[in-house]
Amino acid sequence: MGKPTGFMEFDRRDEDNRPADSRIGDWDEFIVEHDEKELRSQGARCMDCGVPFCHTGEVVQRMATGCPVNNLIPEWNHLVYQGKWEEALQRLHHTNNFPEFTGRVCPAPCEGSCVLGINEPPVTIKSIERTIVDRGFENGWVVPRMPKQRSGKRVAVIGSGPAGLACADQLNQAGHLVTVFERDDRIGGLLMYGIPNMKLDKGIVQRRLDLLAKEGVEFRTGVNVGVDLSAEEIQDRFDATVICVGATKPRDLKIPGRSLTGIHFAMDYLRGSTSFLLSQHGEPINAAGKDVVVIGGGDTGTDCIGTAIRQGCRSVTNLEIVNRPPDQRAGSNPWPQWPLVFRTDYGHAEAKAKFGADPRLFATETIEFVGDSDWNLTGLKIGKVDWSKERPGVAPFSPVEGSEEVVNAQLVFLALGFLGPEQVISEAFGLETDPRSNILANEDDHETSKLGIFTAGDCRRGQSLVVWAIREGRNAAIACHKYLTSPVPA
Ligand SMILES: Cc1cc2nc3c(=O)[nH]c(=O)nc-3n(C[C@H](O)[C@H](O)[C@H](O)COP(=O)(O)OP(=O)(O)OC[C@H]3O[C@@H](n4cnc5c(N)ncnc54)[C@H](O)[C@@H]3O)c2cc1C
Ligand code: SF4
Repeated sequence: MGKPTGFMEFDRRDEDNRPADSRIGDWDEFIVEHDEKELRSQGARCMDCGVPFCHTGEVVQRMATGCPVNNLIPEWNHLVYQGKWEEALQRLHHTNNFPEFTGRVCPAPCEGSCVLGINEPPVTIKSIERTIVDRGFENGWVVPRMPKQRSGKRVAVIGSGPAGLACADQLNQAGHLVTVFERDDRIGGLLMYGIPNMKLDKGIVQRRLDLLAKEGVEFRTGVNVGVDLSAEEIQDRFDATVICVGATKPRDLKIPGRSLTGIHFAMDYLRGSTSFLLSQHGEPINAAGKDVVVIGGGDTGTDCIGTAIRQGCRSVTNLEIVNRPPDQRAGSNPWPQWPLVFRTDYGHAEAKAKFGADPRLFATETIEFVGDSDWNLTGLKIGKVDWSKERPGVAPFSPVEGSEEVVNAQLVFLALGFLGPEQVISEAFGLETDPRSNILANEDDHETSKLGIFTAGDCRRGQSLVVWAIREGRNAAIACHKYLTSPVPA
């Protein structure tokens, strides 16, 4: 334990973001790092509990608690307090392949289950994690680790998001020859083309990819497996396959007016925007001068808001069907569960700075898209819903009579979540799927219904988080390694 009385002496201090009204003028990351002294004080707040919950990564009453990759949090908090940054980095990399990603984008379930959080603000675990790894890169401590020997076994990893990358990293370090196939033109999955630059700089993603390539992982972009390269060819050329294709099928909103021009899936918008920023080619959907409505919340909705503001939209409104969450944990949502409380994310803060109000309208449904005679979107008919009155067999809420209104919009982004993986891969490999159309495999061995084919990430567990994808990729690598090294493959 760094400082036994640290949690009594120091208050939690969240790291600063650059001021919202100035950062919206660029696409650079918005976080500002604490200085050394402040970070060490924050590390000293860790109580090194006898039974720490922050690193458990367990699901309690169907809710995740603690760090899914089981980061050794009290250990590195202690090392940070002592100023032993390089040792802290070693401990961090022991459990997490990519702390520079989670330290930026993770919602930090660890902080929700920090014991100090029972009656005080929890330790700032996520900022400490990010700073440890950022310092590691700045000081040249993160260098390629060449596998000592090669097994001669070849593994195909299909999909290059955090699950595929974590799996490839683990298997490569175990000595296998790993090729990652990606259908897009860049590696990284949603790290590259989903989460925008201001939250996760693409140079930071590329830095890790370059490291993996130096360590021997082969990357093949522009290969849509199941279309450009058959399942049979993959199975002929590789000893094992790990499928990490994400959950990329977007949920639609099939209401009157859906075919009007100006309604897009969020990922088409975000992907185009990042691709244009990186290549300066193409014509991304542009919100400049337009009234924008984002339907749906979560990270995707926030990212659409932040992107539209940077492009110079005239207004932005965010519709959420759910009620506004409470400011404090409800009794039904006790510690150490993830606290379901009202949060203001970066996009909401930016909308408030630019337009003077939080953009979110809660308990609001879209009834109809409204257009002009040329089939261009001009607005949305919306209405309030009442969650205390369900309509059995129809919806768990009822419309509030007389609450209907029309809001102006020339652009709508649908950020309503995802319905699982596209089926091309499971059909090509002849894999069984679960009732939600995810690729069927249990959490322990990640084995699909076909021998030697494993799966991990959003395509197995459904739409989730970067940190869960990393955990899944690591676990699938363990199972795949066991398969490759057992005397007679099971
Ligand atoms: C807009 C957005 C913002 C998000 N923000 C956050 C956040 O802030 N924090 C957080 O923790 N999580 C966030 N998430 C969720 C997180 O990004 C995902 O849970 C995570 O990326 C899933 O990782 P994955 O490796 O399973 O899949 P993905 O990252 O989706 O990667 C799958 C890859 O497989 C490729 N692929 C698919 N089919 C084929 C094929 N047939 N052949 C070859 N390649 C194929 C795809 O092109 C893609 O690159 C966000 C998600 C979205 C959509
Ligand atoms: S990966 Fe996420 S949950 Fe784990 S320590 Fe980092 S911020 Fe917390």
